[in-house]
Amino acid sequence: MAVLALQEALLHGNAVQQRRAMAKAITLLESTRADHRAQGDELLTALLPHTGKALRLGISGVPGVGKSTFIETLGLYLIGQGHRVAVLAIDPSSSVSGGSILGDKTRMEQLSVQERAYIRPSPSSGTLGGVAEKTREAMLVCEAAGYDIVIVETVGVGQSETAVANMTDMFVLLQLPNAGDDLQAIKKGVMELADLVVINKADIDKNAATRAEAQITSSLRLLGQHGNPEHAHHNEALWHPKVVQISALLGQGVDGFWAAVSEFRQLQTTNGRLAVRREKQALSWMWERIDAGLKLAFRQHPQVQALLPHTLADVAAGRLAPSTAARNLLLAHSR
Ligand code: GDP
Repeated sequence: MAVLALQEALLHGNAVQQRRAMAKAITLLESTRADHRAQGDELLTALLPHTGKALRLGISGVPGVGKSTFIETLGLYLIGQGHRVAVLAIDPSSSVSGGSILGDKTRMEQLSVQERAYIRPSPSSGTLGGVAEKTREAMLVCEAAGYDIVIVETVGVGQSETAVANMTDMFVLLQLPNAGDDLQAIKKGVMELADLVVINKADIDKNAATRAEAQITSSLRLLGQHGNPEHAHHNEALWHPKVVQISALLGQGVDGFWAAVSEFRQLQTTNGRLAVRREKQALSWMWERIDAGLKLAFRQHPQVQALLPHTLADVAAGRLAPSTAARNLLLAHSR
């Protein structure tokens, strides 16, 4: 399908045409072929004016915490309110091991059959940066097609949470009711990213969930004093990360969760933080891709390739200082 036809179907097609065009557009954007990449860039440029209106929601948590169950419950709730919901995923495990923690086909069975929902598993090849790039682009396709809520899901593997926090308006961390008993178990860096912490499975142990809520609330308050600059401006109305309890399985607490999200959204819009966050994200996305492109070009440079094997051996064996090796290779690259 030509780019123009794809664009037309995405923006103005009926539900069936739109869905087909989304799959095609995302496949095109995921392709590594140079001619596809050029078409993909043409498409992105055409779609861009029609993007940016969605609420971009990042959701993370360890395997088993209830992400699929929660996203299905939330998705159905939002569709019931008239929204259109796209669910994307970043699963770094799928490129490393070939197996994936997220994205198996039986997940979210009820949500996936809804006409107003679109679910896409994680791109499965390349570096985290590459996978994140494809997901960002897929997000733009969903927005152009009129999805007003885009959920990006990830697992607590490697740097994937940072990648998701860096492409969404709000980052939500799912926790189990016993999380509060062992705050060490929660990676500190991840807690700093959270705009909202959700304690799931509150139905299993209400007391533990309430204890966890109190403990996480106080540690978030401590973090807020020195932590995430996103939450630390003084002269404006500020968001203080919250903690809510839910049961994704029983559908309890979804109202409260959505109220917190809406409050966050409202505040970030009026105090200007949303625009700042997106601007920063766009610029760091660009530089991240430039870094990745330069590194690839560097590694592929014939002079560098000629020098690389023995340089690596020399550095590994301690015969050459890493900084000297880097300078030699950079010089070879610029010759
Ligand atoms: P994910 O790996 O984070 O996507 O977790 P899943 O959504 O697959 O959930 C893992 C297990 O926890 C499943 O057996 C779910 O039925 C169960 N589960 C999810 N949410 C809840 C909840 O709120 N309460 C209870 N009791 N079980 C839940």
